[in-house]
Amino acid sequence: MSIGVDAPATIVFSLFYFIFCIGFVYQSKEFVGLGLSPENILSIKDWVGSEEMDFVNFQIRRSCGTFILHSLLPFGYLIGYSYVTTQLDGNYSSMTLFWRAWPQMLNGLVVSVLIPAALLSLVWYWYTTGWKDHPLVKKMRIYSEDWKSLSKDLNTEFRRIDKISLSLNPLERLVVTDNWILLLGPWPWSLHISHQSDSSLKLLNYDNHNISTEGELGGTQFLHIEVQSRKPGISSFRFRLNSLEYQNLQDKLTESIQNIKSITIYKTVSERFLDVFKEQVAQNDKVSVADELESCIGCMVETANVKLNRICESSSAGEGVEDRCVNCYCRPMWCIDCLGKWWASRQDQSKPETWLGARCPCPTCRSMFCMLDVSLITPG
Ligand SMILES: [Zn+2]
Ligand SMILES: [Zn+2]
Ligand SMILES: [Zn+2]
Repeated sequence: MSIGVDAPATIVFSLFYFIFCIGFVYQSKEFVGLGLSPENILSIKDWVGSEEMDFVNFQIRRSCGTFILHSLLPFGYLIGYSYVTTQLDGNYSSMTLFWRAWPQMLNGLVVSVLIPAALLSLVWYWYTTGWKDHPLVKKMRIYSEDWKSLSKDLNTEFRRIDKISLSLNPLERLVVTDNWILLLGPWPWSLHISHQSDSSLKLLNYDNHNISTEGELGGTQFLHIEVQSRKPGISSFRFRLNSLEYQNLQDKLTESIQNIKSITIYKTVSERFLDVFKEQVAQNDKVSVADELESCIGCMVETANVKLNRICESSSAGEGVEDRCVNCYCRPMWCIDCLGKWWASRQDQSKPETWLGARCPCPTCRSMFCMLDVSLITPG
């Protein structure tokens, strides 16, 4: 009773199911777009509640529900496989006959039912005992036996608009409120909490990526940060943060993040460019000026410390007017940081790799200059 297709339906099914599992567990954008996220499925009948209204309760229920949903995936595969091989491929006339021929399949099915059943009993036990043994609540109870009032305070802090809630990857989120740091993973055991007053944050490492999935120019830097708690019983945890969020996170923390390895944190492409710009300018000849230097008109903080001093060869090269550097007679009015930012802002934003070799108009007189024409002013 073959259906006359070359590839047996079981192989096609296995392939699709595999892709489905990866997409569902790792929450690819497509799956979230289709509403196939554990949060969405668990919102049916409002079982998880609202995160804004009751943050702690939402996290407790969401983590339990996600874990059970994930644990059902093997069962779905085995039962689907049994169905497809008997009904579509027609290898056996009924599922019972198939299982009789393949007892290991039946054993697998039994195990795949027992695991979610065991987890369900565990969650049921947590639920009937008022969640006090849920891993997140256990951690909260280290801070206060009266975890319900702690939970109320935490809910209030979460509702404030100045909290930080960052999606670190499709599975993890970092939440920082006035007093608490939370890492929210998908399952009950991947929820972490630490009070700011006894936490110390360490910048452990970083990784750079030239191609970013978020579409940022010039690549992305990710920082590996560890939160250590001085409170006994509270385990430390790590997360990986886009460096663009670093300052944002630091501003919300009462203690500063320790950067023992002195890792240079890049914030934006422009800032990364600024380092290179300053390095390049430092290699140019320096000039001294007779006038007293005023503060930079860009930031009003630094003293003006650069002058445009055309020394490059481009004017005598006889190229088109567009491509030449022109003398600038403006007095020093800018600091090197502001001039670098100005330079970056005048370039083609989609091609940061061309910035160094490009030209830029003087912010005041608009005469064109290249990087060789920027000179630092020597004091005195
Ligand atoms: Zn400035
Ligand atoms: Zn000028
Ligand atoms: Zn030039």
